Amino acid sequence: MARIAFIGLGNMGGGMAANLAKKGHDVRAFDLSADALDRAKTAGCLPAATAIEALDGAEAVVTMLPAGTHVESVYTDAVFTTAPTSAILIDCSTIDVATAKRIAEAAQVKGFGSVDAPVSGGIGAANAGTLTFMVGGSAEAFDRAQPFLADMGKAVIHAGANGSGQAAKIVNNMLLGVTMAGTCEAFLLAQKLGLDPQKFFDISSVSSGQSWSMTTYAPLPGVGPDTPADHDYQGGFATALMLKDLRLAMRAASDADAQTPMGAKAAELYEKFNDDGQGGKDFSAIIRMLDA
Ligand code: NAD
Repeated sequence: MARIAFIGLGNMGGGMAANLAKKGHDVRAFDLSADALDRAKTAGCLPAATAIEALDGAEAVVTMLPAGTHVESVYTDAVFTTAPTSAILIDCSTIDVATAKRIAEAAQVKGFGSVDAPVSGGIGAANAGTLTFMVGGSAEAFDRAQPFLADMGKAVIHAGANGSGQAAKIVNNMLLGVTMAGTCEAFLLAQKLGLDPQKFFDISSVSSGQSWSMTTYAPLPGVGPDTPADHDYQGGFATALMLKDLRLAMRAASDADAQTPMGAKAAELYEKFNDDGQGGKDFSAIIRMLDA
């Protein structure tokens, strides 16, 4: 069992840190929020007064923070100055590819091994320890990070060099945003053409229009399996987070000079839906905007 510094105990990090503690690790937890620290203490972590205190003597450092700016400042101000260089650095936040690569280069210069390891799966999976991690880093860094990630998830996949985990995450979510928008408009058109939505589901979910957005996450209540649509679009994957990932994908596409017209359209649609005050709803709720 290892001493782990865990920084960022929010919706996702709280459950992840708790799972590491449950596995018997000595988890030194830090967050700017006193409530988050209290919850971590109840879950078996040792709350720290500062990031520096949490990092002292750490064998692994896990960060689960909102965005690249937070990760870069925590790394620059605390991790690089305090953590032993023998510690493996694991950032599980979803951040932009350019920042992930910059952090990894800085870590290497300082003598640290590091991985970017963003997750697929929401708060439920974070609490249940069933996240999927997509990991960017050297083979050696991956091997060192893997056991810690396995204690928080059901699958740990090595995507490639540093930055590849973030690339896999945002490209996957760009595809998800595109297929969800397309699935929503397909259901609406089917209805306008007189098709029963359940019949359309029965046909399309076993035909060539099939995708995860259709088969597993159908955006209409009462159609297909139980989904957030059946619960007034509560829970699931929030529109604001889908928009965040689409913006990251668009920035990465621009940096890489890649053409992503469908991703751009999905980003535009989710931007509008979010601006309409729907950021807290599951992302499949965009069907309501398209039906208006
Ligand atoms: P959150 O806002 O609930 O938690 C972030 C935590 O970081 C907060 O508790 C905040 O106080 C803390 N924090 C911010 N700056 C800090 C600092 N300098 N030092 C210490 N703590 C600091 O966010 P979340 O939902 O847990 O998401 C975390 C990351 O996971 C994001 O990058 C998000 O995109 C990604 N993600 C979220 C979900 C989801 O369903 N919520 C799913 C997949 C990925």
